[in-house]
Amino acid sequence: MSFKSLNITDPILRSLNEEGYSTPTPIQSRAIPIALEGKDLLASAQTGTGKTAAFAIPILQNLGANQQKRGQKKIRSLIVTPTRELAIQIDESFKSYGRYTGLYTTVVYGGVSQKRQVKQLKNGVDILTATPGRLLDLMNQRHISLSDVEVFVLDEADRMLDMGFIHDIKKIRKALPNKHQTLFFSATLPNSILKLANSLLHNPAKVEI
Ligand code: AMP
Repeated sequence: MSFKSLNITDPILRSLNEEGYSTPTPIQSRAIPIALEGKDLLASAQTGTGKTAAFAIPILQNLGANQQKRGQKKIRSLIVTPTRELAIQIDESFKSYGRYTGLYTTVVYGGVSQKRQVKQLKNGVDILTATPGRLLDLMNQRHISLSDVEVFVLDEADRMLDMGFIHDIKKIRKALPNKHQTLFFSATLPNSILKLANSLLHNPAKVEI
């Protein structure tokens, strides 16, 4: 199995090659085809399995393939994750895998001044990674609109619930357009998570690692 056999296109193959990734991990080989088709996904995968690339690669490919919309700098993909450390790592992954796609990515998280984040948002962003609290603050101040989001990723959903972010997630969901793709990742799938997944996903394909 290779990334090429998963129909990953040249600009992304090139950066994966430079990263030294030769073979997709199990979550990648199963999740990437589903995500590329535009389907909703419910995936259980721990950190360390390569789950970030499992959602970042198909998002970069699908958004980058639409030449017309590329570079319009409307937020077309939103990734929500519970902690600042995860948010920074995810944004770094998008920047690295997406370096030849021409897409703009940035990250917002709490605990630091908004100034730099607002400036980056003003410059225009295709893919935004965010922690829930800062995202909602910036939405309330009209620095962020989610009305053009095509792909929504909920990362580490079980940790989100443990950290009390359920209401924030619901508010974020309400700000998304009706038609969008959702990729849902959680290390574990207890009933509370399945209930949340059920409220966010439409006919999801399920991948358990
Ligand atoms: P994650 O589970 O997304 O936190 O990724 C865990 C680590 O695996 C990260 O350091 C990635 O850079 C690395 N990684 C992800 N996919 C691959 C791959 N296909 N081949 C080699 N390393 C990978």
